[in-house]
Amino acid sequence: MTFETDRPPSWQVCVTCGNELTESDSHARCPTCGGLLEIAHRPPDMTRAELLLRFTERRGRPPGAAAASGVWRFREFVLPSAEEVVSYPEGNTPLLHREVLDRWTGLVGLLLKHEGHNPTGSFKDRGMTVGVTQARRIGARAVACASTGNTSASLAAYAAQAGIPALVLVPSGNVASGKLAQSLAYGARTLLVRGGFDDCLRLVQEASERLGVYLLNSINPFRIEGQKTIVLELLQQLTWDPPDWIVLPAGNLGNTAAFGKALREAHAWGLITRLPRLAAVQAAGAAPFARSFEEGFKRRHRVTPDTVASAIRIGDPASHDRAVRAIRETDGVVLAVTDAQILEAKAAVDACGVGCEPASAASIAGARELVRRGTIAGGARVVAVLTGHLLKDPETLLQYHGQADPLPPGANRPVEIEADLREVERFLGKE
Ligand SMILES: *Cc1c(COP(=O)(O)O)cnc(C)c1O
Ligand SMILES: [Zn+2]
Repeated sequence: MTFETDRPPSWQVCVTCGNELTESDSHARCPTCGGLLEIAHRPPDMTRAELLLRFTERRGRPPGAAAASGVWRFREFVLPSAEEVVSYPEGNTPLLHREVLDRWTGLVGLLLKHEGHNPTGSFKDRGMTVGVTQARRIGARAVACASTGNTSASLAAYAAQAGIPALVLVPSGNVASGKLAQSLAYGARTLLVRGGFDDCLRLVQEASERLGVYLLNSINPFRIEGQKTIVLELLQQLTWDPPDWIVLPAGNLGNTAAFGKALREAHAWGLITRLPRLAAVQAAGAAPFARSFEEGFKRRHRVTPDTVASAIRIGDPASHDRAVRAIRETDGVVLAVTDAQILEAKAAVDACGVGCEPASAASIAGARELVRRGTIAGGARVVAVLTGHLLKDPETLLQYHGQADPLPPGANRPVEIEADLREVERFLGKE
């Protein structure tokens, strides 16, 4: 038998069979049973007060110091043994309040954790700083991922920073242009696969095994460790007084799994004494997890996904098993909202000057729906996560405001005029 203190700071565990691997093992899945891997950490040898003091001190560090990152500030939870990290830095995203959205959702003091403020415009950077750091530590000669767009943008940026070649596989014709443009700009070899995201994921997993390329999809457990810091950072912003609910969009379920793990560890290590409930929101056209939830998670579903919210257009979520645990342990809920609800929520978020990409608005649509159903009480303290930046998906916006037929009530249609002052006056007269 080994005592806790004999262990290294971190190691990997298979969530299916309990098989343990060292921290530096590069297998994408459990070599024994094919299950998902998870990182386990030895609890830090510190009191709660000492740990919180460290997090506070690092928050004030000058940019450039790794501790200034909203990910590496929490390194005891992330990858304590990492000496040199590949960091932008990322994180340190704002927690916003807009009264308009209180009225829109029926809540009081709804807070928005805006992850679109990360270096490449989505929360994926929080996982990628850790994943690419690990790739460099194990000497990976190349890194790869399948993506609906944001993971590839982030991988491309962090691989460029680390000087490691990157390969990304995205569904042809189905990636928002902002995201595709980023992965080209940062220099990733980009394959447009004639198929959906789920095909890309299967292909990249096979390729990584065959070609010895390090896989940085969200099944990669190191990415999950970085994404946990969305929760840790928002708890720190709330001076470790947890909200009643955290609402997030759910596609491949890596983030849902990460949030559950963050809360479990924050509770186990004494940072919080009460767990917020998680609400994972899917798009109705891509809602296999919501369907499983309704059946008490008795079985796993796979669907052919179809939704305007491309970042959650996923029919066979890779982190299903890890996410079930997250929902169960937090007494969470999973629900689906329609594309119409998502676009209406997005218009509300955009019109108040905050802005987000379509998938992100699922959390706002979901919060409103849960209040309407009475699942979330109107007086509850709620944090909704906005996962990506407004500029990620200009096509959906231009379609919504200019071309949709019929135009939605909130559409802000551009008007073309001759270069003549009278035309401006005529236009203003009409307003
Ligand atoms: C990746 C992503 C999601 C979905 O997260 P999962 O971990 O796949 O559930 C939601 N919104 C945006 C903007 C994303 O990039
Ligand atoms: Zn296993």
